[in-house]
Amino acid sequence: MTPRKQIAKTIKDYNHFLLTSHINPDGDAIGSMLGLGHLLNRMGKTFTFYNQSGLPERFSWLNLPAKMHTRIPLQEYEWAIILDCGDGDRLGENLGTFLDTDKSINIDHHYGNPEFGRYNWVEPHRSSVGEMIALLAQDLGMELNGDMAKSLYLAMVTDTGSFSYSNTGAETFSIASEIIKGGLDLDSFNSHLYQQWSLNKVHLHGLAMKHANLYCQDRVGLIKIPAELMQQTGTNPEDCEGVVNYVRSIKGVKVAISLREDSENKIKMSLRSWGEVDVNAIAHSLGGGGHHNAAGGTFYMSMQEAEGLVLEKIEQHLDSGPEDRNWAQVT
Ligand code: 5GP
Ligand code: MN
Repeated sequence: MTPRKQIAKTIKDYNHFLLTSHINPDGDAIGSMLGLGHLLNRMGKTFTFYNQSGLPERFSWLNLPAKMHTRIPLQEYEWAIILDCGDGDRLGENLGTFLDTDKSINIDHHYGNPEFGRYNWVEPHRSSVGEMIALLAQDLGMELNGDMAKSLYLAMVTDTGSFSYSNTGAETFSIASEIIKGGLDLDSFNSHLYQQWSLNKVHLHGLAMKHANLYCQDRVGLIKIPAELMQQTGTNPEDCEGVVNYVRSIKGVKVAISLREDSENKIKMSLRSWGEVDVNAIAHSLGGGGHHNAAGGTFYMSMQEAEGLVLEKIEQHLDSGPEDRNWAQVT
């Protein structure tokens, strides 16, 4: 039996689940978790949500089918379902040791997922885990509508950069099409997702953009957000979401980097690329990970040191890989 079928069967056969996703959850982590929660509700199952970082403010407009615990909940469960987590370290404090891997289901789309569960449904070509939960819902005979569909749409639209990245497949569009047929109000959805900014956030992005720079013969764009900039504009790390895309849009840029200073000597890195450049490999060599065109990681050093290190790695990668030859085909 394929893992996908095995997971559908397990969901039918059991009643109590623990649902979790990676720390600092993005739209896919939250959307797939909420979507699966709504799916379980429809089947009359019980479940508990856990995410160490909680629900980010920018997703607070979604209907939660259960309370989001930020401490490992003590409720009994028969199966833990871990979503969008390609790396055990990203589960959050102690969860890796707390989980009984024999009672764990791992649903993910990251290359190199260590397949830590009893059942591991890992498909790196999928746009998002939300897409995979939508397929699961269809396997279980459900229509893609209501709050379940809204959550899954969030997962797909955020992990594909509004259906623009190369991870957007034909099936991503057909699921989106089913969700629209199921009655999703796009106008309201998009205003919730995209019309959330504060003026302070606009100022933060403006100031960060002003100091963006190019390196490595203009093939690499870098944008930095020192803690001071967040203090100055009255913003927080969540407000920095998406800044990396500004340098990714510059003509000729193959790799875009953002470095955000979360606290002293803790720098969050985001990497983005177009086409052949494998930023997952670069992030991996720096202790992080992700996808071919979108990856990240954390440095425990100063901003200046992190900048030097990431630029050095990227230069090595660009000068050794086949990207230069392939680049002409993908622009
Ligand atoms: P972002 O730059 O938006 O934080 O992350 C982009 C992608 O990289 C995410 O989908 C996530 O899978 C991955 N990613 C980000 N940070 C880390 C990290 O510290 N470790 C690993 N393994 N992956 C990360
Ligand atoms: Mn994802």
